[in-house]
Amino acid sequence: MTGLVGLIGYPLGHSLSPVFQQAALDYYELKFKYELWPTTSDELPSLVSRIREFGYLGANVTIPHKVEIMALLDEIDDVAKTIGAVNTIVKKDEKLIGYNTDAFGFLKPLLELAKFKPSGARVLLLGAGGAARSACYALLNAGVTHLVLANRTLSNAERLACESQKFLENAKSAQINFVTLADPKLNTYARSADLIVNATSIGMRHSSFAQESLLMPQQISEDTLVYDLVYNPRETQLLRNAKDAGARTLEGIPMLVYQGAESFELWFKKKAPIDVMMHACDGEQFK
Ligand code: NAP
Repeated sequence: MTGLVGLIGYPLGHSLSPVFQQAALDYYELKFKYELWPTTSDELPSLVSRIREFGYLGANVTIPHKVEIMALLDEIDDVAKTIGAVNTIVKKDEKLIGYNTDAFGFLKPLLELAKFKPSGARVLLLGAGGAARSACYALLNAGVTHLVLANRTLSNAERLACESQKFLENAKSAQINFVTLADPKLNTYARSADLIVNATSIGMRHSSFAQESLLMPQQISEDTLVYDLVYNPRETQLLRNAKDAGARTLEGIPMLVYQGAESFELWFKKKAPIDVMMHACDGEQFK
């Protein structure tokens, strides 16, 4: 019998997760299939009940269920609890346990591919949604000391700043500011940042702001690393603007693969074949 793992979200469209997860499963010749499970909020409880059945090993969880799924699980790992979102479910001894691998997935490419040194760094983080929460957790835990949260809705940035300082030991000694995207100080924060992260949806294909960027080339210093978590398209307008400014860039696909690799390791207790997973994405054309 073939076992099952899959991705829960809605809508799922053309997701890359089955491509690189199946490549990892096939690499180890595991008799598992990675499926897409498009699920509305109404259908979520019955899908979680199905995962409890024989043959299912767990799941990945994406927009819009990362928060509401938590109430349907038996245990939540501490990292996921602190971040406030679950993106991975593991079935263990008949229990469903929720994990968050987004923070790991965010940090790994930053350290290993971009060779960024977070200790003492100044970071401008654009956004205060789910992806920004994981990035904020990872950055503060890695030793970032100056963090500016810039978001369209100020109250969301303020809440993220307050929760971080309340729940994260490292955040207590860090300086965390929050501003709106329209704040005139954004310019100064952007120009003086060692790292700028886009964790908003701006630049996403199929959205009404697909061709937009929150920062223009003149707002970016050539000494800055610009990391866009948007992965479709691979090269967003923000990354093009950063290149025009002479800055280094990091795209969102490696985060996607690394968060999936960490999920794979939680499910199978085997080292994820990162090169195989990355390579599987190379030939994929996004629609
Ligand atoms: P989310 O929870 O819905 O948050 C969306 C964020 O974007 C919020 O900060 C929101 O601001 C902001 N935003 C939305 N529309 C905007 C607009 N028109 N102008 C300015 N700001 C706007 O979504 P998410 O899960 O954080 O995902 C955000 C992006 O990260 C998506 O593109 C997603 O694909 C990407 N992502 C990538 C990975 C990866 O592995 N590379 C993982 C997760 C997410 P408000 O607070 O004002 O609404």
